[in-house]
Amino acid sequence: MLLELPATTPSDLASRAHALREQQVRTWALLGEGVTALEHVQTRQIPMPDFTMRVQFNPRRIISSAAKVDAKSIAQRPCFLCTANLPAEQRGVSFNGDGYIVLCNPFPILPEHFTVVTTDHRPQRIADSFVELLHLAAAVAPRYTVFYNGPKCGASAPDHMHFQAGTRGFMTIESEFDRLKGDPLARNNGVTAYACACTRSFIAFESSDATALEAAFRSLYRTLNDLVPLDDEPMMNVLCWFDSAAWKVIIFPRAKHRPAFYFAEGDEKLLLSPASVDLGGVCIMPIERDFHRLSADHITQMLKEVMLPPETFRQLAERLRHYLT
Ligand SMILES: [Zn+2]
Repeated sequence: MLLELPATTPSDLASRAHALREQQVRTWALLGEGVTALEHVQTRQIPMPDFTMRVQFNPRRIISSAAKVDAKSIAQRPCFLCTANLPAEQRGVSFNGDGYIVLCNPFPILPEHFTVVTTDHRPQRIADSFVELLHLAAAVAPRYTVFYNGPKCGASAPDHMHFQAGTRGFMTIESEFDRLKGDPLARNNGVTAYACACTRSFIAFESSDATALEAAFRSLYRTLNDLVPLDDEPMMNVLCWFDSAAWKVIIFPRAKHRPAFYFAEGDEKLLLSPASVDLGGVCIMPIERDFHRLSADHITQMLKEVMLPPETFRQLAERLRHYLT
């Protein structure tokens, strides 16, 4: 199922992924329709007190936004990221030897949108894959940004390890990051850490040293595990891009998968299932009525419920400062 690329294709992953998409748009009707639909999609902007939220009406995302990701539902369906179950037209390019395959997402949110899946079927876990996230972000720079949705934070295949990659600069946080990050929380071992305590709280790391970044991430992971013990991994979404020979990693620690209004009935209901892209500043709304109704108050309410409570975030930042200095 790997695509044979023209000999003229440059060998870097960003160029190979871009060439894959060109081929797949021509040969795979579902993706062609998805790309055309996205070109005509409605968007609007909601100014928030400290950042910009764009809203995208994307009806083709209903499958993902309404996905049942409980263990029983997952066990009862064939895994749609395993090579054996991919559509006949789907092709991929390899990454990290034969460890991962880059695939086009047939229901794109970003102009170019890829799913980067492991070749073996194993659960969505960031702990042992973080360094691969860094390598992927470097390999697809400067064209794409990489993101990770935790198994209970928006991944629609929590049973099959995958990252996503998409058009750099699409999420508003990418251009707002330098303004939002504030003063450093700590500087250690070539890593600068930030803790942005606001309605959309996040921890960020900047470094040109992958090993040091991985160590910093492990400190964060352990601290979250201690503060909010779970059977599963700490809930989070992660964005990462590689720029001027350094990585920027944004981690959104989470408290909840979906806001209460997702489960409400009648007029109270809004189908918004937040994941990396939503937290990155582009809310994806699959229902037209919800797209028009979504307000700044809804977004504030959603963030209040799904992000870490302010006191827990403060403790997280404080402990992280201690570990990193
Ligand atoms: Zn699978």
